[in-house]
Amino acid sequence: MQLETTATLLDGRALARELTADLTRRAERLREAGNAPRLVVEMVGEDESSLAYARSLLKLGAKIGIEVDLEQMSADATEERLKRRLRVLGEDPSIHGVLLHQPLPRHLRIERIAPSISEQKDVDATNPANQGRLAYGHDPLFVPATPQAVMLLLEASPAWPVRGKRAVVVGRSVVVGLPVSLLLLAADATVTTCHIATTDLARHTREAEVLVVAAGVPGLITAQMVSPGVTVVDVGTTVVKSVLKGDVAYEEVARIAAAITPVPGGVGPVTNVALMRNVIAAAERT
Ligand code: NAD
Repeated sequence: MQLETTATLLDGRALARELTADLTRRAERLREAGNAPRLVVEMVGEDESSLAYARSLLKLGAKIGIEVDLEQMSADATEERLKRRLRVLGEDPSIHGVLLHQPLPRHLRIERIAPSISEQKDVDATNPANQGRLAYGHDPLFVPATPQAVMLLLEASPAWPVRGKRAVVVGRSVVVGLPVSLLLLAADATVTTCHIATTDLARHTREAEVLVVAAGVPGLITAQMVSPGVTVVDVGTTVVKSVLKGDVAYEEVARIAAAITPVPGGVGPVTNVALMRNVIAAAERT
């Protein structure tokens, strides 16, 4: 006999619509004040998935009323050329947000280039100064888009507030796992960060009241690895035979969890809106 799914679905598409409506109003106010919000996406080289991502930003920008410009440098662009361009964008008062698309080609090192992104326009918090500000736990200039999307989904879930709760994050990357851990700490959760060298992952994940998974390993988290009542946010997105797969075995975990994000339709749709939220906030600060 199959058990019914009882988990609350944390619907990223619905949350994205709600947030988009608010941003559209704020963008209109900015335009009326003669300060039309503008984002530049700087891309080096062109592969199909990067271009698809850029197109999704152009589309969302048009919907909200944010001008999104895509700038493409050739794949062999030098570090110096890219840094120079980023500095020019930083000085242009008509631009409020600068997004350096990642991953960069192998010859370019993000840690050498990111400091050239203007701290005030760094809408994905890539500049190490903005990443560092997250560690203070209050008033960061920008919260990076994907970690912000995770927190927005948690804020809309029955697990909120997470104060005093046991949170487990699987993944420690600079773009997702690590900042999510810092944000959960800032929200007063007790946080365990797991990674590729963690032994007995299930021992940790079973302790979780809040579980955020950003490993990039489809189906990594199974029903045996979670406890009843857990709230699960699945950041993973891997294309397997043309189908987008999360890191959580959704069907079986949804029978045990209190709340869960689907893939697709969870973190993904909120991430782009979170980025646009940062563009609007940057424009409102000028
Ligand atoms: P990454 O490869 O940089 O980092 C993966 C992390 O997971 C590492 O810290 C690694 O130690 C850990 N890990 C890998 N395998 C593990 C295992 N078996 N057990 C425990 N830990 C393990 O990836 P990333 O950039 O952080 O992205 C993670 C996932 O999130 C990917 O699937 C990516 O596509 C997805 N992602 C989604 C969005 C979105 O908006 N939805 C945005 C960014 C990334």
